[in-house]
Amino acid sequence: MDSVYEKDYGAFKDFLESQNAEFNYELIRKAYEFCVTMHKGQLRRSNEEYYIHPVCVAKIVAQLGLDSESVCAALLHDTVEDTDTTLEDIEKLFGDEVALIVDGVTKIGRLSFVSKEEQQAESIRKMLIAMGKDIRVIIIKLADRLHNMRTIDFMPQQKRRDKALETLEVYAPIAHRLGIRPIKEELEDISIACLDPIAYEEIEGLLNENFKDSSRMLDTVKDRITERLKEEMPDVKTEFQSRVKSINGIYRKMFIQGRAFEEIYDIYAVRIITDTVANCYNILGIMHDLFRPIPNRFKDYISTPKPNLYQSLHTTVIGREGVPFEIQIRTFEMHETAEYGIAAHWKYKVGVSGSDKGMEQQLAWIRQILDTQNDTGDASEIIRSIKVDLAQDDVFAVTPRGDVINLPVGATVVDFAFAIHSAVGIKMVGAKVDGRIVPINHVIKTGEIIEILTTNQAGHGPSRDWINIAVTNQAKSKIRSWFKKEKRSENIENGKIEIEREFKRNGIVFENEASLKEFLTDIAKRQHLENIDELYAAIGYGGVVLARILPSIKDNYNRISKQNKVIVTTPEITPHRRTKANDGVIVEGIDNCLIKFSKCCAPLPGDDIIGFITRGHGVSIHKCDCINVPKNIDDSPEPARWINAYWADNLPSTFMASLQITAIDRQGLILDISQTLINMRVALHSINAHPTKKGNSLTVITVSTEGVEHLKNIITRLEKIHGVYSVERLNK
Ligand code: MN
Repeated sequence: MDSVYEKDYGAFKDFLESQNAEFNYELIRKAYEFCVTMHKGQLRRSNEEYYIHPVCVAKIVAQLGLDSESVCAALLHDTVEDTDTTLEDIEKLFGDEVALIVDGVTKIGRLSFVSKEEQQAESIRKMLIAMGKDIRVIIIKLADRLHNMRTIDFMPQQKRRDKALETLEVYAPIAHRLGIRPIKEELEDISIACLDPIAYEEIEGLLNENFKDSSRMLDTVKDRITERLKEEMPDVKTEFQSRVKSINGIYRKMFIQGRAFEEIYDIYAVRIITDTVANCYNILGIMHDLFRPIPNRFKDYISTPKPNLYQSLHTTVIGREGVPFEIQIRTFEMHETAEYGIAAHWKYKVGVSGSDKGMEQQLAWIRQILDTQNDTGDASEIIRSIKVDLAQDDVFAVTPRGDVINLPVGATVVDFAFAIHSAVGIKMVGAKVDGRIVPINHVIKTGEIIEILTTNQAGHGPSRDWINIAVTNQAKSKIRSWFKKEKRSENIENGKIEIEREFKRNGIVFENEASLKEFLTDIAKRQHLENIDELYAAIGYGGVVLARILPSIKDNYNRISKQNKVIVTTPEITPHRRTKANDGVIVEGIDNCLIKFSKCCAPLPGDDIIGFITRGHGVSIHKCDCINVPKNIDDSPEPARWINAYWADNLPSTFMASLQITAIDRQGLILDISQTLINMRVALHSINAHPTKKGNSLTVITVSTEGVEHLKNIITRLEKIHGVYSVERLNK
C-alpha cells in the first residue's frame, strides 16, 4: 500500500479501536489492503476513489457491533462483482466464513427489486434464503445500501427515484423487521428526500421553527424528571435521553394520515432507561403522577413485544406548557435491542450460539414467509404477503379478558378473530368494539377492546367475502382451508357456475361435452390439479383465481379452435340493456338475481352504485366510491365480477341509513332528536349514545329513509337541534 492508503488505514483502525470491541486486526488489515489494491483505478460517480465505499460500509458494520469476519466481508463486498477477484481467491485468503458472506452479498446485489411483481417476489425470496443462511449477509447489504443512499446525490434523477423507491419498499422494511432502528430511519428519510423533496423541506422547516421552543421544553422536562427520580429512587441507575421523531415518521402522519404538525403527539419523546423491568413500571407510576397522562395513549410493549422484539413502555403526557410528549421507559437491555435489533446479538456477546432465543425468533419469521410461499403458487399473492408482513406499523387491540393481539395496520375484526384462534374465527357472527356492534370490515385501531361474538350453531362457518376483508395471511389461509375442507361440494358447484359463466361471456364454446371435458382436463393439469372436479373446487374456494388464468385459457382456446376450424359463435351481446328491477335495482344484463345491499357502504337511492357478483349469494350492491370497490376495475383481480347497476324508477319505499351526531352532552338531547324524527315521520330503528372527552357526546342513529335527498333533509333538520355540531352519514 502506498502512503495515502497507509494513512487512511490508520484512521480506519482508530475508528475500529474506538468501538469497544475486539477485532482480528491482522485479518482486517489484509482485507483492507486487498480491497484497496483490487479497486485501484476505479472511481465512484462522485469522483472519489472506489475503495472509500467499502471502507465506509465496513465502518457502519463495525458500528453495529458485528464481528471481524463481517468487517472483512464488508471491505471485500464488491470485489467479486466489480474486479477480477474470484470467490476462490477470497476463500483462500480469508477463509470460508468470509467467502460465504461475500458470496451472499454479491448474489443479493444482482437481484432487482424494481421490476414486475413476479420477478420482485422471486428476488425477495432469494434474498430471504440468503438471510436464512447467514443473517450477517443482509446486515452488510443494509450497510451497503445505506452508504449508497448517503451518496445518492451523484446519481441521475431517474435512478435516484428508483433506488429510493426500492429502499423504501424492500430495504427499510427489512431493517425495521430486524429491529435496526437507526438504519431503518436514515434509509427512509433519505428516500423521502428523493421522492418528495418539497414535503421533506416543509417538515424540516417546521422542525427548525420549533427547535428553540422544543429544546427548551425538553430541558425543563429533563430537569423535572431527573429531580423527581433522584428523590423517589435514589439508588436506582437511570439514564435520560430525548429524541425527535424521524422525518419519515412525521411525513407518514402528516401526508398519509392527514394530521397537522401540531396534532402529532409523539414528535418529541423522552426516554428513561433503567436497570430492571420492575423499575420500568415504578417509573411509569411516578411519571403519571408528575405529568397528566392522555387517556388511551399508554402502550405496554414490555408484556407484548413488537414482532421485531422491540420492548418499551410508551405513554403520552402533557407537560406544564400544555405540549404533549411521549415518554418511553425501558431497561438497558431492551434499549440495545431497540437500537441494534438483531445486530445486538453480536454486540455484547462473543460469537452467537445456535440456541440464542431472540435470534431464533427473528429467523423463524424468515422461514415462515418462505413456507407460505410454497403453499400458494401465485407470485402476486406472495409479494403482497411479504409486504404485509414487512409492514411498518402494527396496531394493538385487546380482548375483553385483557390479552393483547398484535396485527398489521389495516387489519379488520376478521383478522382479530382468527388471530385469537381459528375456532373463534370460524364461529364468528359479529364483533363489538368498545361495547358497540361494528360491521365485520371494521378496521382496528390501537387500544380498542374487541369482543368477538360467536355461535355454536352446527354448520356455521365464515363467509366467502371474508377472504377479501381479512388482510393477514393467517386469516386468509385459514378461511380458504375451511372452505376447501368443509364445503367441497358447494365449491365444485360454485366453480362450475363460474367457469360456465366466464366461458359464455368470452365466447368459449365447444361442439360437444367430450371436447369441453378434454379442454378442462388440460386446464386442470396446468394448474397441477388432478381432474376437473378438483379444478372446479379450487376455483370455488379461491385457490385458483379464474380471472387470472383466463387470458391464457383464451389463447389456448383460440389455438385449438383454429386447428379444428370450429366455428366460434360470438356470445349474445347483452351489455347496456336495462332489464327488470329487483329490490329497486337494475343490474345490467341479469334479469332475476338476488340483490343484497352491502353493509360496508349502505347505498341509498341517489347514490351512484355498482354490483359485484358474489359466489352463490347473488349480486351485492356498493356505492361507486365505497372503499371496497377497486378504483380501477380493469386492473382489479376480478374485473369480470363487477357489473353496472342503476336505481329503478319504482323504488320500494324505504332504506336504512345510519347517522352519527356529534353534540354537546346535554340533557334532553336524545329526546329532541327523536322528536325531530317523529315530526318528520321518519322511523327510528336504533339509537346509541355515549359521552366523549371534553363534555361532548356521540350519538349513532339508524333511520328509515327514502333516498339521498330525503336523508339530506333529515340531516339538515337534525343539525338545527340546539347543541348539535355535526351530523354525518356513516358507512361512507
Ligand atoms: Mn457496494
